[in-house]
Amino acid sequence: MTTKAGTTTPIEAGLVSFDEALTRYEPVMGLEVHIELNTASKMFCGCATGFGEEPNTQTCPVCLGLPGALPVVNEKAIESAIRIGLALNCEIAEWCRFARKNYFYPDMPKNFQTSQYDEPIAYEGWTDVTVDGEVFRIEIERAHMEEDTGKSLHVGGSTGRIHGADFSLVDYNRAGIPLIEIVTKVIEVPGDKAPEVAKAYVAHLRDLIGGLGVSDVRMDQGSLRCDVNLSLRPTGVTTLGTRSETKNVNSLRSVERAVRYEVGRHAGILDAGGKVVQETRHFHEDSGTTSSGRVKSDADDYRYFPEPDLAPVAPSRAWVEELRATLPEQPSVRRDRLQTDWGFNDLDMRDVVGAGALELVVATVEAGASAQSAKKWWLTEMARRSNEQGVGLTDLAITPAQVAEIQSFIEAGRINDKLARQVFDGVLAGEGTPEEVIASRGLALVSDDGALGESVDRAIEANPDVAAKIRDGKHAAAGALIGAVMKDMRGQANAGRVRELILEKLG
Ligand SMILES: [Zn+2]
Repeated sequence: MTTKAGTTTPIEAGLVSFDEALTRYEPVMGLEVHIELNTASKMFCGCATGFGEEPNTQTCPVCLGLPGALPVVNEKAIESAIRIGLALNCEIAEWCRFARKNYFYPDMPKNFQTSQYDEPIAYEGWTDVTVDGEVFRIEIERAHMEEDTGKSLHVGGSTGRIHGADFSLVDYNRAGIPLIEIVTKVIEVPGDKAPEVAKAYVAHLRDLIGGLGVSDVRMDQGSLRCDVNLSLRPTGVTTLGTRSETKNVNSLRSVERAVRYEVGRHAGILDAGGKVVQETRHFHEDSGTTSSGRVKSDADDYRYFPEPDLAPVAPSRAWVEELRATLPEQPSVRRDRLQTDWGFNDLDMRDVVGAGALELVVATVEAGASAQSAKKWWLTEMARRSNEQGVGLTDLAITPAQVAEIQSFIEAGRINDKLARQVFDGVLAGEGTPEEVIASRGLALVSDDGALGESVDRAIEANPDVAAKIRDGKHAAAGALIGAVMKDMRGQANAGRVRELILEKLG
């Protein structure tokens, strides 16, 4: 089946296509997003939090869970958690505690994770996401604080998973890095929209929380991870079906694909009269499929209890209001404002956002270009080049300021659009600044009347019929002579001045 996003969901035995599943079932989703905060130190100790450091160099007795080590809460992490809660329109708890979530994992040395259970720092919020111009409100159940686990590396075997591995290594650098887990309430949207809403929600959180400056929100580095809870129920039935939880889906596209795949897999099981197992599942990027992880425990099995080694957190209302005042404009509000400022219609705006060019256009406009010209260059010339090079727009070797500068040269009549493309070529090829490329490639338009006049005379002489028409007042015919002059001057004549000269000479 070819889906809207151009992805292909493989049909396996027992798997029903997404579209067919929707004829009999309604998907119900819940999304859990983990955000790693970018605090300088960990959640409960002073260890550094740098990404990609030498394994086990950022550890201490607290984050290694050594007996007798006592944790202390990182105030900056609390502040970040409150800001995230406020950005998601949540209530902020006046008093809350951490809790121990007991389970064994080799990369969790204490045998419990310090998390929050029935007393989250933020709860009862909402946020709006837009898909194809339609707004969907996502209700937020809670945003709570917890610590990340370490990282296991399974060596040998073909899957990178523990099964079949020769041995496993554990890196505790990540253990204790502050996390915020954001849990939605049940998301009920039209089934055909579910995959895109899930993807749009994660993209929205990335922008929103990235805008707060509290996390790098890099899915590729694991600082933003999404778990997709999904169940199906027969159309018209209100009780919820058994859910699966697809863990750590690590790209926006995969979020959408995971929803599609699980809808088809659940439908296949239900169609055959089977029962969906409540379990965690792994998503496979290469095949777009999921496979069974572990049978998922209910909360009871974790034996949650309040963490006795940490004082409760009771943020004062004054502090909460102070933090509320620091919130940046919400992304959706900002987009609406930019659209108005720029005079863009919905389609213009969607094109810019969809191309990932919003910040580039913002920066280009800030550097002095008009919004229309900024959009034009980023969505045509730059988009084409980024496709050709297989890199993102932001990775191109040109800055928004340079694009704005090139546009200003066009407006000043020094170059035209055609020459501008050559300037872009030169800048991207590392030939220097726009000014240097124009000089070294000799790209400036000729506006000098002496040189232009001679060329105009030659064009008139070579095209007596056209010249006669212009003399008779048919000024539209001047285009043919301008074309001849441009050709003569290899595209570097100032077309506006050429036209004036033609009309002066034949007027
Ligand atoms: Zn530590």
